[in-house]
Formats: sequence, C-alpha cells, structure tokens
Amino acid sequence: MGNSLQIARVLGIPIKIHISFLLVLPFFAWIFAIQPEPFGFAGIESGLLKYSLSLLTAILLFISVLIHELAHSYFALRYGGSINEITLYLIGGVSAMGKELSDPSSEAKMAFVGPLSSIVIGILLLLFNSLFSPAASSLEESPLFLMTFILGYINILLGLFNLIPAFPMDGGRILRAFFAQRMGFVEATEKAASIGKIFAFVMGIIGLFISFWLILIAFFIYMGASGEEQQVKSRYGKL
Ligand SMILES: [Zn+2]
Repeated sequence: MGNSLQIARVLGIPIKIHISFLLVLPFFAWIFAIQPEPFGFAGIESGLLKYSLSLLTAILLFISVLIHELAHSYFALRYGGSINEITLYLIGGVSAMGKELSDPSSEAKMAFVGPLSSIVIGILLLLFNSLFSPAASSLEESPLFLMTFILGYINILLGLFNLIPAFPMDGGRILRAFFAQRMGFVEATEKAASIGKIFAFVMGIIGLFISFWLILIAFFIYMGASGEEQQVKSRYGKL
C-alpha cells in the first residue's frame, strides 16, 4: 500500500501505519479530552495533563489493535500461512496474507484469536481497574485508572464487534470457515457474504430508528461483505 509508512517489523512482518492515522490519532485524542468521566478526561482541570492523558490513551488504543493483529499473524504463521504486511488504522488493522490457510479449522482459529486477544486485554484492564482503583478518589489523583477503564472497555467492545458474523469482521471469517467444512471455499464465501449482507441490511433498518452511526456501520459491513466475495471470486476465476 502506497499510503502507509513502515514503523516496525515484528515476527518478521513489516508493520505499517496508514497515512490517515496521522489525522485519526489526534482526532481520537481530542475525543478522549472532551468526553466526561468515565469515557474521557474532560473533568481534569489542567490542560496539559488532560491532553497528555488523551494522547497516551489514543496511542495505547493503537497498541491494543496491533496486538489483536499480531495474534492473527502469529496463528497464521503457525499454521503455515504467510503475512506480507500489517497496515494499521487506529481502530482496526488489515493483515495482507501472502498465503491463505487451506484448512477451515485453522482459519477459524486464526480469525478467533484476534477478538479473543482484545477481550482478554479488556478483561485484564477492567479487572486491574476494579481491584486497585482507590475508592472515592478524585479524578486528578487517579487519572491512570480512568485510562485503564477506557482502554478496557473499548478493547472488549472491539473484540465483541469483531465477532459479528459478517465480513470484514473476524466473525465473517469464522462463519466462512464453518461453511467451508461442508462446501467449497468460493461457495462458503458466497454464503457467509450473503449472511453478512442480510445482517447489514437489518442493522441499517434498525439504524433508521435508532442512530445514524448504526446505518454507517451497516453500510461499512455491506461493502466489506461484497468486497470479500468479489475478491475471492476473482482469485478463483469465478468472476
Ligand atoms: Zn481481527
């Protein structure tokens, strides 16, 4: 990908950040700075402390996403696949696979370890928070606990969101692997993509009554489902 910068190499895989990241990182830091407790640092008086904490939270969020992607990569390598590079956006990453896994049960495991790692990180952070956070302390005294709460909460949400059984979420891959045990890979992809589209459609309808954001996410899921289907079909010459 041309619009990304390589920042590191882990497990032999180039880790890149997408150029949009340079805008999204300060944007997220700003969101954390204006949100009131318990989802942000708006209650902190000192501007310097507020913005430093917000920026640090955004960076740690990015590191959590990197761990999620590396969990996928580690399993892919272990089961004989290969990863060309990982490109990170702030709340998601894309692992470009050189060689896909041929065995559906390995693919399912590989897809599952990403959300699992997010949920485990989330639970550990929230557990740490509830065990050690001093009761009834002021925000200025314990802003780090607010940070562990925010990061824990977002990691669990990211993990659960990724388990939605629709492409481009990991849940879509798990669903395809489930179908692929009974039919060909292309057919399994088609079936998983149709379920993803139905899911997106229903979500969009619900969004009309609830929230514009839901419609936006539904649209993103719909595009992801069609994109994955087209990609697999063209790779297998069925287009
Ligand atoms: Zn993932």
